[in-house]
Amino acid sequence: MRTRAKEVPVSSAVIPQDYHVHTRFSFDGRLPLDAVCEAALARGILEVCTTDHADFVPGDAGCGYFQPAAFFAELEQCRARYDGRLTLRAGVEIGEAHRYPAEVARLTAGFPFDFVIGSLHYVGDDFVMTPRYFAERSAREAYTAYFTELLALARAGDFDVLGHLDVPKRYGVAVHGPFDERDYEEEIRAVLRACIERGIGIEINTGTTRRAGVPSPGPEALRWYREMGGEILTIGSDAHRAEHIGYELAQAVALARAAGFTHLTRFEARQPRFIPLP
Ligand SMILES: [Zn+2]
Ligand SMILES: [Zn+2]
Repeated sequence: MRTRAKEVPVSSAVIPQDYHVHTRFSFDGRLPLDAVCEAALARGILEVCTTDHADFVPGDAGCGYFQPAAFFAELEQCRARYDGRLTLRAGVEIGEAHRYPAEVARLTAGFPFDFVIGSLHYVGDDFVMTPRYFAERSAREAYTAYFTELLALARAGDFDVLGHLDVPKRYGVAVHGPFDERDYEEEIRAVLRACIERGIGIEINTGTTRRAGVPSPGPEALRWYREMGGEILTIGSDAHRAEHIGYELAQAVALARAAGFTHLTRFEARQPRFIPLP
């Protein structure tokens, strides 16, 4: 299945969307919004959604960094400048939404977001986006703890799409070797089931491709999601730099098609609408 998915030819150069992009409003980003728009236009991306980090874990580098009012002011300028050429959506990537419901509600009720990604970067107090998380644990222990916490997020968080489903593998492969989603099928299916039951989607995140050679999730989990009735799917590069915008998204389209999808999903005012795969 894995190899077959890779062999599916990419039928079109058009990239319908990049729904995971970080700008200078993320603690770890530097891009002004017009640079995001220029890069998207240059790569033939029809719709771009910025998703800066909003984090609430005390002591996290991103905690308190995102300034939504300043972000929306810059966004409105760009929407006017690129009107008719590019669709620019206002998103946000919220970390640990299940642990900070009041903060999440304040943010999402206070500003007109089109799209909210719910991501997990912590298991308890432990940051998972680092090789250290894996150096201190066996692979089984590290991934199981992550998927257990991810299930809690999927069951309780207020968001539209679950971010980078198996993101710890970005750092785990260097410590424990390749990640095989089939080794965690039960845990991953439980997360996917919770998403489907709540009307939450998932994304194909190619930021993981840049670091681990395979996106989050990989082809197996994507196929499980589709077979289980999952329909809401977005694709995103998780770019923090201009050169990464749109990265491997043609391959993400091919993976979606190979998994049985006929559509991707776009969001406006947090309402999903299906768009046919190119
Ligand atoms: Zn993330
Ligand atoms: Zn991100």
